[in-house]
Amino acid sequence: MLTSEMIKRAALEAGADKCGIAPMSRFDGAPDDMNPQFLFPEAKSCIGFVFRIPRGVQRGIEEGTQFFQYPSMAYGGINEIFAPAVLYHVGKVIEDEGYEAFVYRNTGARGSVSDMDGSPGNTLSPEEQIEVNENAKTSTAHHRSVQFTRATRDTNVAPDLQFQFRLAAVACGLGEIGWSKMLLTPEFGPLQRVAFLFTDAELEYDEMYSGEPLCRKCGACVRECPGGCIPPINSGKTVTVDLAGKICEWGDIDMWRCYAFYTHAGRYYNPFVPKEVFDENPNGNLDLLEGKTDIADEKEIMKVYGELQKYFPSWVGYNMAKCGGCIRGCVSMLEKKGGCMEGRFKEPLRTKKPWKLDR
Ligand code: SF4
Ligand code: SF4
Repeated sequence: MLTSEMIKRAALEAGADKCGIAPMSRFDGAPDDMNPQFLFPEAKSCIGFVFRIPRGVQRGIEEGTQFFQYPSMAYGGINEIFAPAVLYHVGKVIEDEGYEAFVYRNTGARGSVSDMDGSPGNTLSPEEQIEVNENAKTSTAHHRSVQFTRATRDTNVAPDLQFQFRLAAVACGLGEIGWSKMLLTPEFGPLQRVAFLFTDAELEYDEMYSGEPLCRKCGACVRECPGGCIPPINSGKTVTVDLAGKICEWGDIDMWRCYAFYTHAGRYYNPFVPKEVFDENPNGNLDLLEGKTDIADEKEIMKVYGELQKYFPSWVGYNMAKCGGCIRGCVSMLEKKGGCMEGRFKEPLRTKKPWKLDR
């Protein structure tokens, strides 16, 4: 007989770092376009998997010496290799017992609504647009959503439905959402990515997390964001979701602004772009990064990407995170001020003042 214990053991043996299981009913209140109940209507259980981000892949960014390991290992590596391999393995264990395993790896930008801001269709992905312009020599736009997707039946929503991964992880009892909108887990703080599997097997379910709040509302993420993308803790700018009775709340982050800053960081945190480029600010293309406009929309972001694309030091399908780092600020705080990462490492992530370019 298939049990939750068998699934969790298989997941950990295959390389996941944590696994939790939720009944599908926990998604009852989700908006249709993001409700995983539509994916596999007969599914009874959602299985969530955590894949830790080794703290060491952040070391080079923390030191200002190496930026490649995080996007290649902890974005690309987890999303494209490690997590799919675990989903594949656990899926086989489930199907060997006669139940179906609907795997759902991290995809991004495949739904009828934007994975940036939930708006329907037609929001641009700057990286993909640049790739098309440069290499395919066409101006066909790529999007953060699939524009022309249509429901295949009256009872369906349009494919490919994309649900909110972090809330699904909370539903599976894996952790909570922090002020910075990152998933925090008791074991790894903000250092993980997640993947999911839906099955028609009825299983034993995990409670949602109800221990000490994992987010300390310390504001380190707010302070360390070079773009001011995360609102101050007491600003009242919050997003609140009632997830089957668990209230999840986080800061209402300016996602488009983050889209510009996490990759390009601005003059003080991007060592790959010469100072003169920021000084010159050709055609005002860097106004957003230079704080000369408050507008952070697709148009402004495309200007930034268009101007700075030649300074991408490499292309791994995932952008280099060059920003000050809400993740590293959070890890550092949770290690030093008595949070869930206290005592995990012999030495803290941060041992000296964070770097900032003098220009
Ligand atoms: S990823 Fe970078 S730019 Fe985005 S909110 Fe975090 S610190 Fe700010
Ligand atoms: S840095 Fe502090 S406020 Fe921000 S998510 Fe982490 S614990 Fe919460």
